[in-house]
Amino acid sequence: MIQDIPKTFRNEYTPVDPQGDDIVFAFQGHTFLAKEKDGLLICPMYKEIQGRVQYLFAIGSTHYFLALDPQKSTKYDWLSVRTLRHTQPKTLQFAGATAYHLYTWYQKNQYCGCCGAKLEHSLHERAMVCPKCKNIIYPTIAPAVIVGVIYKDSICMTRYANRPYKGHALIAGFCEIGETPEQTVIREVHEEVGLKVKNIRYYKSQPWGFDSNLLMGFFCDLDGDPTITLQEEELAKARFIPRDEINDTYQDLSLTNEMICVFKKGDKI
Ligand SMILES: [Zn+2]
Repeated sequence: MIQDIPKTFRNEYTPVDPQGDDIVFAFQGHTFLAKEKDGLLICPMYKEIQGRVQYLFAIGSTHYFLALDPQKSTKYDWLSVRTLRHTQPKTLQFAGATAYHLYTWYQKNQYCGCCGAKLEHSLHERAMVCPKCKNIIYPTIAPAVIVGVIYKDSICMTRYANRPYKGHALIAGFCEIGETPEQTVIREVHEEVGLKVKNIRYYKSQPWGFDSNLLMGFFCDLDGDPTITLQEEELAKARFIPRDEINDTYQDLSLTNEMICVFKKGDKI
């Protein structure tokens, strides 16, 4: 999956001064500054970037920064953030998704929600602080579940309505305030496809910075009637697909894809 990288992700907040060879992510909306050649991604180094930067994290001995005043570059192009899903090296793919999550959070937290003053970067922790009322804002993560509903030798697969991703998906949804992830599983399955489930079992989790998520994967068994009632605003399609009709291949990226492939292989889940 995207987080399975060969070097250690170090996100403790120990800012260092940027050095010439450090990697800088410069985002603008849903794009970022980079170049892609034959599936290989290259991002700018600090020495190639003008303006202020914010320390993000380290992977192995490499430090990553966010450009605070992103500017056009003659050497790099503005590429869609989705480019990160199909480019190598894997470390840069994960770093980019995680940097995008932090960029999104910084973008949405420029002013204090209590008093309206301009927020400042904390010098001590990964947080924004209000100089006027001392309000502290920490990074926002949206927990969500991915659910593989199993019925006999088939799994409930979906396709989203109104989303750029057109591949197979599983039932998914955000955890609401006051509920456990297991309760989210029951509620989302019922809301999206009108089914009841039992034997809910945790599989694996995944940080998914593209949508500011922490995803938690669960498998469960259908409880009772297999008739699907589709929630049409959310899903374009949903049906139980037999194991031997699944043609998805393992992509080493998303939890959804891994869960589909694990079921297809017939592993014990
Ligand atoms: Zn304030």
